[in-house]
Amino acid sequence: MTAHVEQLEFQAEARQLLDLLVHSVYSNKDSFLRELISNASDALDKLRLEALRNKDLDVDISDLHIEIEVNKDPRVLTVRDNGIGMTRAEVVDLIGTLAKSGTAELRRKLRESKNEAASEELIGQFGIGFYSTFIVADEVELLTRKAGESEATRWVSSGDGTYTIESVEDAPQGTSVTLRLKPEDREDHLHDYTADWKIRELVKKYSDFIAWPIRMQVERITPGQDGGKETITVETQTLNSMKALWAKPRDEVSDEEYKEFYKHIAHAWDDPLEIITMKGEGAFEYQALLFIPSQAPFDLFARDAKIGVQLYVKRVFIMGDCEELMPRYLRFVKGVVDAESMSLNVSREILQQDRQVTAIRRRLTKKVLSTIADMQSGRPEDYWTFWTAFGAVLKEGLMSDADNREQLLRVSSFASTYSDEELTTLPEYIERMKEGQEQIFYATGQSREQLLKSPHLEAFKVKGYEVLLLTDPVDEIWVGSVPEFDGKPLQSVAKGEVDLDSEDETSEAEREEQAKEFAELLAWLKETLSEYLSEVRLSGRLTESPACLITPTFGITPALARMYRASGQTVPVGKRILELNPQHPLVTGLQQAHKDRGDDPSLAQTAELLYGTALLAEGDLPEDPAKFAALLAERLVRIV
Ligand code: ADP
Ligand code: MG
Repeated sequence: MTAHVEQLEFQAEARQLLDLLVHSVYSNKDSFLRELISNASDALDKLRLEALRNKDLDVDISDLHIEIEVNKDPRVLTVRDNGIGMTRAEVVDLIGTLAKSGTAELRRKLRESKNEAASEELIGQFGIGFYSTFIVADEVELLTRKAGESEATRWVSSGDGTYTIESVEDAPQGTSVTLRLKPEDREDHLHDYTADWKIRELVKKYSDFIAWPIRMQVERITPGQDGGKETITVETQTLNSMKALWAKPRDEVSDEEYKEFYKHIAHAWDDPLEIITMKGEGAFEYQALLFIPSQAPFDLFARDAKIGVQLYVKRVFIMGDCEELMPRYLRFVKGVVDAESMSLNVSREILQQDRQVTAIRRRLTKKVLSTIADMQSGRPEDYWTFWTAFGAVLKEGLMSDADNREQLLRVSSFASTYSDEELTTLPEYIERMKEGQEQIFYATGQSREQLLKSPHLEAFKVKGYEVLLLTDPVDEIWVGSVPEFDGKPLQSVAKGEVDLDSEDETSEAEREEQAKEFAELLAWLKETLSEYLSEVRLSGRLTESPACLITPTFGITPALARMYRASGQTVPVGKRILELNPQHPLVTGLQQAHKDRGDDPSLAQTAELLYGTALLAEGDLPEDPAKFAALLAERLVRIV
């Protein structure tokens, strides 16, 4: 046997994370077993699937199972499966890196989090499955052989920064994970993982629903007959019932069982906010068990973020990440759909064309949305947790799912100028609309603070119109595809014309007067700044600032253009509209100066400065910041 042992180091980050992990998460020690069983179960699912797809794969799948073995001296616990196994490269990749892109982020947050519960929640968000073994073990050995390969791999680590890896010639196919348990804590008999009863209890509690038998050799003591000696026999027992939870009537399953199942399929550590069970009967029978999590996973917004729904056919796992069953904007929903009358060989292509699959997806979507609506009306705190975690994802549906747009808008909440703390729904907004107000006003931007200071909001504030403050990046996009809610058009405060006094006749006359008075100035400004502007006009939305920039009704806002550019798309830079506040001394002064001095070049500079400050006021930069700064400095010299 060639035993070339290679010693490798974890990435520095992984090492620190391990350290933190082992020292911060104590209250939930038990969960390491659930994690190992969950991994073994996944490996068995994968092997069965692979055998189904690849007829050339020469493996025995007649007795797929998980085995637990405990030993008191030395204190060792092994979890073994005859599943898919891993190649050496996979071990390095999947186990050796403590993978997951969010590791640095997790480490920072763990350090900041003060208490255990918070640490655990964090770990839950990032998912450290396999590594939870180091909470109870001094040393972990993983021996694995991939189905169809002859060479096996042994990986050993004490969780202290390095691990060794070597190729091994003969090992059974599948994976065994052996934990050298930490010394027994005499005070703490409740956590003795070498006790049969403890293992039995943990499997029942956390893993009863696992679809594969979890076996253990147990000693059975039979009392002797008529005072004779007792006999001890060793027998193999299956510890779990293997009942698919989704196939059981809801009232026969406890919430605890549902929660543990959720943790298994979602690879999560949090508790779900909602448990949804559904059944479809008739031509196309199916059962669904869905969960709405309480925490967002760290990769919720990653480009390759997975859909959380798994497809089973007649209790057999077929595929995870099933986009055909759940739209992308509901990717946070986890769960299982088990179809009765589908072929085990079903492929993505077939699913995509299957009308009944599309129908299921429509039903699941509606059910999830109505569940959210119920939560919103019945359990505001849970809804709040939900919205904080997933609101920004849900809003993606406003662009892609026109059928459910109305419902999505109904269950959405938005910040608004009405309250500093509470969010508002659209129906609530409409109830508060002013007499004569026909539109729902909104502003988009980076933060509430920035928006509240924006010149675009001035007149709305003064005149008491409520404005929604939309600050998620996705808001910038969906507002473009949602024309109205409940018959009320959505209107950006920074787009098109707004006229807050349209009912007022005296102001009508006044406006005409003003228009005449300022006509020359406006024409001159338009010409002077024609490089940037398509129009210069008097504003109905300014009370304090001299000027602001407006995007034409159907134009692309600068923020949206930035987002497109960041994602590699090119967008034409549309010219914008400059609006002036006819009451502002800078504007009236400019008007007078233009009358008096006509084409004075220094006036053109003032125009540039006016335009530049309008950009600054909305949080943007002038096109040529250096030139702007030079112009400004020159002016300041004259007044200091
Ligand atoms: P997760 O299960 O959330 O992916 P883990 O840390 O539990 O994270 O496991 C990391 C990866 O290691 C798994 O995704 C799987 O690919 C691999 N793995 C772990 N245990 C086994 C096993 N018993 N058999 C095959 N692969 C395994
Ligand atoms: Mg896992």
